[in-house]
Amino acid sequence: MPESVIIIGSGPAGWSAAIYAARANLRPLLLEGAITEENRMNGTLPLGQLALTTEVENYAGFPAGRLDGFLSTAIDQSRWKLMPPLTEEKHAVTGPELMELMRQQAINFGTRIVTDDVVEVDFNRRPLMVTSREGQTFQTHTLIVATGARANYLGLPSEEAFKNRGVSACAVCDGALPRFRNRPLVVVGGGDSAVEEATYLGKYASRVYLVHRRDELRASKIMQQRAQEHPKIEIVWNHVVAEVLGNDHDGLTGVRLKSTVDGTPRELDASGMFLAIGHTPNTRFLRGKLEMNDKGYLRWTSPFRTCTSVPGVFAAGDVADDYYRQAITSAGTGCMAALDAERYLADQGL
Ligand code: NAP
Repeated sequence: MPESVIIIGSGPAGWSAAIYAARANLRPLLLEGAITEENRMNGTLPLGQLALTTEVENYAGFPAGRLDGFLSTAIDQSRWKLMPPLTEEKHAVTGPELMELMRQQAINFGTRIVTDDVVEVDFNRRPLMVTSREGQTFQTHTLIVATGARANYLGLPSEEAFKNRGVSACAVCDGALPRFRNRPLVVVGGGDSAVEEATYLGKYASRVYLVHRRDELRASKIMQQRAQEHPKIEIVWNHVVAEVLGNDHDGLTGVRLKSTVDGTPRELDASGMFLAIGHTPNTRFLRGKLEMNDKGYLRWTSPFRTCTSVPGVFAAGDVADDYYRQAITSAGTGCMAALDAERYLADQGL
């Protein structure tokens, strides 16, 4: 029997789609991704980008509080080891906790989960066909793609070593953490995101070095002006980060730069380095199957609908959004995709 709905992806979009589809009695099957070293290195493990962050202070509904009682009663004990240790300390929900809560909520309403990646899809047949990395095939009347995007990193071993200990790719998620307050910070990149992140970090940092590899920002004129006029932002032109500096006790303590003009080295003291060098959507397995923009993000074919170029296939979350990229907007589009799938099934008499 074909499935009514298969969901690929296990970030906020995937789980929200699953909760809505399950509550509509569609018994969704969700492929959450595989737990492999390759996925760890690529930033594509189950539970998505939020699993890589710390506290999420801007997800509505989770003010800081003592969450230990809530988390320990809401989430199955077998999953506690995947979350930060439960403590009596007041805190805003963390990314891993939020994802475990969403996962549990989807399970509670009957979502079935397969812990594997999707490597192939066949949209030339009905029902649609999905193949997992382990070789399982699934047939489905509708498919919701919620595979997200991954932040681009520089790829330095020293950068990897200090991820979550000073290296971040999300100022909005991490910028207000104590380790970044009243300290110099580095933002890498020259686009709108880099300026936005630098401006945001300016609220907390003592100084923000915006390190860009050229002598001109890619950001829009208004954002360029904002960066140049900001009292705390100093643009370091024509430099790349050659090495992240730090130690086990303090985490990141600075960066070693290299001039792109003459190779001259330079060091900056900092307690954080924020990457804003773009994101890559996780759509490789959909190339040639669904319409994408020039950066590989899936294209919604009707305004305010999650429809893609293939009837019955819907896209939700960052995989179709290179603009907002927030947990709450992803969750919203996940809900929309489930409602769109439900209406499609009804229209088709399935
Ligand atoms: P982007 O425009 O692609 O900019 C990426 C920046 O990172 C570029 O300056 C690029 O340098 C630099 N870069 C890329 N790879 C690098 C590497 N390996 N080492 C050092 N630097 C590297 O990406 P984005 O800023 O995330 O923006 C994405 C889209 O969202 C854009 O269309 C943007 O306008 C939009 N956006 C808009 C707003 C807003 O309007 N408020 C805010 C955020 C994003 P080069 O310039 O040398 O290529």
